[in-house]
Amino acid sequence: AQERYASIRDLPATALCGNTINLNMNAGLMADLPSLPSSGAEGVGLFRTELQFLIRNQMPKRAELSALYARVMDAAKGKRVVFRTLDIGSDKVLPYMKPNDEPNPAMGWRAIRVGLDKPGVLQMQLQALLRAANGRPLSVMFPFVAQMTEFQEARAELDKMVEREIILGHPVPEKIEVGAMLETPSLAFAPDAFFEQVDFLSIGGNDLKQFFFAADRENERVRRRYDTLNCSFLSLIEMIVQRCEKAGKPVSFCGEDAGRPIEAICLAAIGLRSLSMRPASIGPVKHLLRRVNLNDAKDVIYESRERGDQSVRESITNWLAYGG
Ligand code: PEP
Ligand code: MG
Repeated sequence: AQERYASIRDLPATALCGNTINLNMNAGLMADLPSLPSSGAEGVGLFRTELQFLIRNQMPKRAELSALYARVMDAAKGKRVVFRTLDIGSDKVLPYMKPNDEPNPAMGWRAIRVGLDKPGVLQMQLQALLRAANGRPLSVMFPFVAQMTEFQEARAELDKMVEREIILGHPVPEKIEVGAMLETPSLAFAPDAFFEQVDFLSIGGNDLKQFFFAADRENERVRRRYDTLNCSFLSLIEMIVQRCEKAGKPVSFCGEDAGRPIEAICLAAIGLRSLSMRPASIGPVKHLLRRVNLNDAKDVIYESRERGDQSVRESITNWLAYGG
């Protein structure tokens, strides 16, 4: 599929209205890295660090992780890689950690909640990232932040690790960007102060959608009832984008929906300027983005919403197929 889009691989995803959308890839394993040059991605918008923990049968050592992260940064050749700290719990259970018997693991002790309650692993991982950067710029984001104080506490752990590295005489990154994943509706309604203190936000659409509609993302039966292009969901995303704009903070969308061309058009039309997706989706998304006027797409979305449609899918699909 990537060969089909080879002719546009090095061209920007500039829509007919002149807006350029930054297209990044999601990754997590070393095997994903060759896709960085071949897909045309501008960087790695989401590096799921838990995959490295899930494929092992014991907790990786700091030195091992740091060597691995350094290889990821080397392979990126200066392109931005956003490392997401460990997102375990929920559907991702480490074979070497005591299983937690929780009735609702997706809403349970997972991601940054584990990181803050048992900071040892988070600290080790942050230190591994700092060492891997070896002075180079570093981008880190925390998963599943549900309220402002969680972000503040996680960032304090990072600051602490930076201090420790300085005391040890190790080089620290020339620039560290610290972001949060917005995956719960609560964070969309956080105080303005939250949007002002993050360096960037990334919308985890898979989880955000699951919690917005209260529909388990693993359960086909309920998941399929709710369209990503549902007007209410798009309104939530639009609000998040506007709050980020107001605070002057970059925002990206990194759920699976970013890789679906029609969804990608709508996300860009309501204001997202950065999307992160599986590498194979970059070609098809770029191909379509380069053929549409996002201002027109936005009009179609607004009209559909004002008409009271449940989802804008039909209007957008018709507009793409027949125009006007
Ligand atoms: C998401 O929730 O959209 C996301 C990108 O994270 P994950 O799919 O790894 O939960
Ligand atoms: Mg998620």
